[in-house]
Amino acid sequence: MKMLIDDHWVDAAGGGADDVFSKSDGSLLDTVPRATPEDVQAAVTAAQDGKRRMARLPAHERRAVLMRTADAIEANQERLGRLLASENGRTLREIRDEFRAAARIFRGYAEEAQRMFGRVTPLDSIPGNERSLALTIREPRGVVAAIVPFNYPVELWSHKLAGALAAGNAVITKPPEQCPLTMLEIARLLQEAGLPRAAHQVLTGPGGTVGALLVRSGGIDMVAMTGSTSAGRAILRDSAATMAKVHLELGGNDATIVCADADVAQVAAALVRGRFTSGNGQICCAVKRVLVERSIHDRLLQETLIRTRALRVGDPLDEATDVGPLISEESARKVQSQVERAVLAGARVLAGGERRGAYMDPTVLVDLKPDSLVFEEEIFGPVLPLMPFDTFDEALTLANRGPYGLQAAIFTRDIGRIMRAFRELDVGTVVVNHSTAIRLENLPFGGNRQSGNGREGLHETLREMTELKTLLLHEVFEDA
Ligand code: NAD
Repeated sequence: MKMLIDDHWVDAAGGGADDVFSKSDGSLLDTVPRATPEDVQAAVTAAQDGKRRMARLPAHERRAVLMRTADAIEANQERLGRLLASENGRTLREIRDEFRAAARIFRGYAEEAQRMFGRVTPLDSIPGNERSLALTIREPRGVVAAIVPFNYPVELWSHKLAGALAAGNAVITKPPEQCPLTMLEIARLLQEAGLPRAAHQVLTGPGGTVGALLVRSGGIDMVAMTGSTSAGRAILRDSAATMAKVHLELGGNDATIVCADADVAQVAAALVRGRFTSGNGQICCAVKRVLVERSIHDRLLQETLIRTRALRVGDPLDEATDVGPLISEESARKVQSQVERAVLAGARVLAGGERRGAYMDPTVLVDLKPDSLVFEEEIFGPVLPLMPFDTFDEALTLANRGPYGLQAAIFTRDIGRIMRAFRELDVGTVVVNHSTAIRLENLPFGGNRQSGNGREGLHETLREMTELKTLLLHEVFEDA
C-alpha cells in the first residue's frame, strides 16, 4: 500500500518500505512506505494549507464528511475487519465490536462539531469595566499529529482523527508500524467522503524515526498520542522545542478490587473477559491486578481457573477462538519473562504460563509478594495476578501502588466503600461492578501520573483540540 501526502497516494521518497505480516501465520500481507525526512517535511508543508482549508470549512460540512465516513466504515466492516484481524491478531469477534465503536465515535464527533460553544461574560463585576463585555470562541489548534498504537488502532485513532477534524483541524496520522493497513484503507474512505485537500495525511514508518520527526517538526500544533509511557516521555522531550500541545494516553496497571459481597461467578467472567479475551490481554485498562477480600479469594480463584482453562487459544480468524496471538513473538517473550521473574520471586502459576511463538497461554498467578513486579510494571499480555486482602484500607493502598493511574474497578454493593474508592484511588476512572476493561466514548478517558495527561472522549477531545480566543469589547455599552 502507499501512504497519503497532499492528497496523493505515494511511495517513500527514497523507495524504502516495511513488510507487514499476518500475526497468526507470519505470512506477508503487504508492504508500506518507510517515510523519509523529506516525506515528513512534505506532509507538514501541505498541512499548513490543509489547516487553512479546514478552518474555513463550516461545521455542517465537517459533520457531513464524518457522517459519510461512519457509513463507509460500516459498509466495509466485514472486509476491513478480516484485514485488521490478520495484521493485528485480535479475534474477529472483538474486531467487529471495534468497528461498531469506530462508526459510533465518528458519528459522535460529527454531532459535537455543531456544539463548539463559547461564552459571553459581562464585566461589570470589575470596577471601571461597567460598560464592557467579553466573548469567547473555540478555535482549532491547526495541525494535529495523531500517533496511534497497535492494540485497538481503529477505535483509538477514531477519537483523535474524528475529534480533530470535527474541531476544524488538519491531521497527520502516524499508524502503528505493526498494523497500518486497515488504517490506510479507512484513510481512503475518509478521502472519498470529501475532505478538503491535505486536511488528512498519513505517514507510515517506525515511531522512533517517522513519529519523532513529525513531533519535532515546527509545523505541528498538537501531538495526540496513545501508546507506551516510554514513547510518551520521548514525545514530551521532543516537543519541548516547538512547545506544541501534547496529549498523551499511556500505559496502565489497573487494579480490580473484589469485596466479599460480590457475585463470584459474575466477577470471574468479568476478569476472564477483561484480562484474556479482550485484546488478547493487550489493553491499557485490562485487569492487570486483582485484589480479593480473603474470605472469597479461594472461591473466586477456582471459578476463574475453570473459565481460564476452557479458553481456546488460536487463529484470530477462526470464529471459535477466544484468545489470539500477541502482536509479535518479541512481545510474547517479554510477557513470558515477566511471568518467569514473578515466579523466581515466589509467585505460582496455576494456569497457562506457556508460550508458542507469539501465542501466550492465558496465565493465572498467585502468591505474589508485596515487592512483586506486578505492582510496578505493566504486563501487556494475558496474565492475571490475584492476591488476597484483609482490610479495605490495605486494598486501596495496594491498588494505588506503582507509577500508573489509568482506571480502577471495585465489585461491591457497599456504597460507603464505593465512595471511598472513588475519592481515594488516584486514577482517571473508578468503575463499579465491572472490570477496568471498559471505555465508553461519551465518557472522559485517560489517566494520572505515568498513564498520561488530559482526557479523551466526545466532549473532552474537542476541548483539547481547540483553544479559547477572547474578544474583549471595552466600553461598548453607551450610557442612556
Ligand atoms: P508504542 O509506544 O510502542 O507505540 C505507539 C505509537 O507511538 C506508534 O505509532 C509508534 O510508532 C509511535 N512512537 C513510538 N516511539 C515514538 C517516538 N519517539 N516519537 C513519536 N512516535 C513514537 O506503543 P504500542 O506498543 O503500540 O502500544 C502499547 C502501549 O500503549 C501500552 O503501554 C498500552 O498500555 C498503551 N495504550 C494506552 C492506551 C490509553 O488510552 N491510555 C490505549 C491503548 C494502549
